[in-house]
Amino acid sequence: MRNPPGVSASDFSAALKEFESAVGRDFVFSSEEDIDLYRDAYSPLWHEDAEPVPSAAVAPENVEQVQAVLKIANRYKVPLWTISTGRNLGYGGSAPLLSGSVVLDLKRMNRVLEVNDKNHYALVEPGVSYFDLYRYIQERDLKVWIDPPDPGWGSPIGNSLERGGGYTPMRDHFASVCGMEIVLANGDVVRTGMGALPTAKTWQQYKYGFGPYVDGIFSQSNFGVVTKMGVWLLPQPEAYLSGTVMVPKHDDLFPMVEVFAYLMNSGIVQATTLVSSPLWFAPPDAELTALRGNGTTQQLEDYAARKNIPYWSVSLPFYGPAKVIAAQWAHAKQRFSAVIPGVAFRDGASYRFPLSADQLAKIVDTVPFGIPSLQTFSIMRPNGLGHLGFSPIIPMTGEAVLESQRVFEQVYRDLGSPGGPAAAFPVFSFFPRSFVNIYLFPIEHDVEKNRKNREIYRRLIKESAARGWGEYRTHTTFMSDIMDTYSFNNHALRRLNETVKDALDPNGILAAGKNGIWPKSLRKTEMKKA
Ligand code: ADP
Repeated sequence: MRNPPGVSASDFSAALKEFESAVGRDFVFSSEEDIDLYRDAYSPLWHEDAEPVPSAAVAPENVEQVQAVLKIANRYKVPLWTISTGRNLGYGGSAPLLSGSVVLDLKRMNRVLEVNDKNHYALVEPGVSYFDLYRYIQERDLKVWIDPPDPGWGSPIGNSLERGGGYTPMRDHFASVCGMEIVLANGDVVRTGMGALPTAKTWQQYKYGFGPYVDGIFSQSNFGVVTKMGVWLLPQPEAYLSGTVMVPKHDDLFPMVEVFAYLMNSGIVQATTLVSSPLWFAPPDAELTALRGNGTTQQLEDYAARKNIPYWSVSLPFYGPAKVIAAQWAHAKQRFSAVIPGVAFRDGASYRFPLSADQLAKIVDTVPFGIPSLQTFSIMRPNGLGHLGFSPIIPMTGEAVLESQRVFEQVYRDLGSPGGPAAAFPVFSFFPRSFVNIYLFPIEHDVEKNRKNREIYRRLIKESAARGWGEYRTHTTFMSDIMDTYSFNNHALRRLNETVKDALDPNGILAAGKNGIWPKSLRKTEMKKA
């Protein structure tokens, strides 16, 4: 048996015994077989000594049991790593950042406490997955949509705390959180927002309550264990339509993104889409393959014109009353036409809700329609282990799109990817007001390749930071590296986080190292490592 760092074998066995009396023998896992299930199947440290492996897992059933586990962990200084459903694949899965941590697995706390289809919200426990919540809503025929990420087997609590994104107008998941219950490291149970009123009637309707708005400090952090969360839902929209905007010239990107930003920031387009270059997604003939390698912009424009392929395109998704969204699409067309000569438009899918079984069967990925799916796994490469995302937030400008493509093109070469450089990486609008790039780094069954890829990843973090781009989320392996780049005023933000950490969790029992926040006892060693 592996002990958590700094905990003696005898203390650890005593702690495990006490965990057993707190949650039941069947819900403390310490056999190799069980522990293996909590490893990160997509670790960039795959099969290396440094791969973090938990020492055990403990699965409480309710808030009182969470409190009991935290009390025991404090007594023996056992480091814990909290997960909801542990499907945070590409970012560490269910594995801890600090090897030897005990996974605090909240999957048994899986009750949907409320779904309200008049004020459109849900109140859930951590073990409720998007599939569970969707099923609950369907079984009761409630007219509300959830906003699943791809893939849908994670949980609203885990994904929102990680500030994940989806596709519908509720796509910014943390922005859709309304009211939490949190067990602090000392066992105190706090309800945020209106939930602090013992007689609360609007816990899931008004976020801020009274006084400092503290919800944010429990996201991407290790300050508490979230045991309940309110999540805003979308009233089932009447209709959906999508329209594609296509522009012929390279430099049309600039006005195209400007109009796009206007539409987004005005609330005319409210959902996730991507800006990309069809020239780089079209199946290439010999000429295009050569041009992609070393063609000039003019040559690519000429080729695009001859073959009737747009240089750039963006699809606009609209959700709402059929008449309103038709008018929004018409307005968008006017805006683009006014500033881009040669812009063309294509009407895309159009639906009324609910979808018929026939329509559903034909839709490849149902996630943009509030239906969780695992379709995203079809992007897995056949001979690799998986991927992890490199995801910087960049400005919503054509200049930033081009610059990020140049940076990624270099990475593509550095990774030795076959098929030549791919200058066009799409940018996504998962969050309002900015773009996010998502570069999928391969995870290999090959220690040397992973080592080299980690170097490239770390170089990319630095290059991005030098350009003013920061990652919105990352794999546990790189959390300290990325927090290092958020360094304004001699790392004032990290110092603030550490002050809060020391006040709330003096024994450092919760999620050591999460997002670069280390407990006092481990801070010096970890800083040196970074
Ligand atoms: P999902 O449920 O979407 O699969 P995870 O359970 O893998 O997400 O959680 C993702 C990350 O979010 C975890 O690694 C952990 O850092 C944090 N987290 C998840 N659930 C909680 C929680 N209930 N309280 C505090 N932090 C949490």
